[in-house]
Amino acid sequence: MKSRVLILGAGFGGMELATLLSEALGEKADVTVIDKRDRFVFGYSRIDVMFGKTTLDEVGLSYASFIKPGIRLVKETITSIDAEAKRVTTDGGTYEADYLVIALGADYDMEATPGLTAHGNEFYSDEGADRLRTLLPGFTGGPIVVGICGFPYKCPPGPSECALTLHHYLTERGIREDCDITFVSPLSSPMPASAEMAQALMNSFEEFGIRLLRQRTVVRLEPSMAVLDDGTELPFSLFLGVPKHQPPKVVIESGLTEDDWVPIDLPTLETRFTDVYAIGDMAATGLPKSGTFAESAARSVSTSILAKLSGANVERNTGTGTCIVEYGDGRVSYAELDFLTGPKLEAIYHPPSIAGKTFKQGFDDTRRDRWFNR
Ligand SMILES: Cc1cc2nc3c(=O)[nH]c(=O)nc-3n(C[C@H](O)[C@H](O)[C@H](O)COP(=O)(O)OP(=O)(O)OC[C@H]3O[C@@H](n4cnc5c(N)ncnc54)[C@H](O)[C@@H]3O)c2cc1C
Repeated sequence: MKSRVLILGAGFGGMELATLLSEALGEKADVTVIDKRDRFVFGYSRIDVMFGKTTLDEVGLSYASFIKPGIRLVKETITSIDAEAKRVTTDGGTYEADYLVIALGADYDMEATPGLTAHGNEFYSDEGADRLRTLLPGFTGGPIVVGICGFPYKCPPGPSECALTLHHYLTERGIREDCDITFVSPLSSPMPASAEMAQALMNSFEEFGIRLLRQRTVVRLEPSMAVLDDGTELPFSLFLGVPKHQPPKVVIESGLTEDDWVPIDLPTLETRFTDVYAIGDMAATGLPKSGTFAESAARSVSTSILAKLSGANVERNTGTGTCIVEYGDGRVSYAELDFLTGPKLEAIYHPPSIAGKTFKQGFDDTRRDRWFNR
């Protein structure tokens, strides 16, 4: 009898895990992937969408092209997860599994920051980025706050990319001198995992006249005013925010979370339930919430499942990933990070360059090809 693998979520983690199991088992795989959406959008594409460089329709990758031997993708919304019984209910039915992998990502808690939806804008969701695409061309000047409303959040350098791209966008439109940009971050530096990347970002902020306020969080928005956790009030004409993150409601209601996220055994990503794993942004790994870390978690879980099915070797979670930073002027920098294979964090930094853009394009092309056959 085949062993049924149920993967919840077809994001970076879920798609990579399904792909690895299909590669190893072919038609012998019995893998069901459930996702509520029609298409996948790379997180970084939202920065391009908000600044009008592309549209969601251009960058969206339809799940209809995610076709692999032994894998079935169903478009349904998950409404409950019984981890102990490895049973999942959706708006379309009930699924039982021998191995359950929860890869549902992180959602946004808009209510956690009063005034965010009424007085500001967020650029971390498809909908928020798309709204800004139509709103930004009508912006004519004034103080701008790029503000983070909670930690942890996805892609630590993402908000820096927004601030830098904003600078170039306003310059191209000839209104940069009519705007002040303040960037509010809860972190001690724009990229704590790579001191060199952080320093280069801070140098660019200085060069481009972007004011950085570190170790501050936006806690409330009033009309045209952002209020920080130390009481500082920042007037704005435009607020571009990163909302506070939380696991999807169905994960919280399943009772799997503790201290906000889903606790796991870091080397294996197994939850407190045998054969139930959590990977990607919802797992309490302490590592950056980023697609490439979800992929390395998927690699480890694929080996655990394959080991149980066919005796292959288990690869522990390597905690490896690449953080890519778009400078908004054609240059891209990136840092290759390795948190778990050695005694301490290893970071290989690649400064901003046009060649970095080619690297990013390769990153994108590889995944389009691997997951969507294009
Ligand atoms: C602006 C921005 C820039 C970024 N840049 C990068 C970058 O350069 N490199 C990088 O590696 N990462 C980047 N990221 C982060 C990256 O997008 C996430 O960390 C990554 O997607 C996490 O993968 P995941 O598999 O955990 O979850 P996700 O990819 O978010 O997938 C979760 C899936 O679960 C589904 N789902 C959720 N709830 C339900 C439900 N109830 N029922 C059914 N389906 C459900 C969702 O539809 C989604 O498809 C960026 C993110 C943003 C916002």
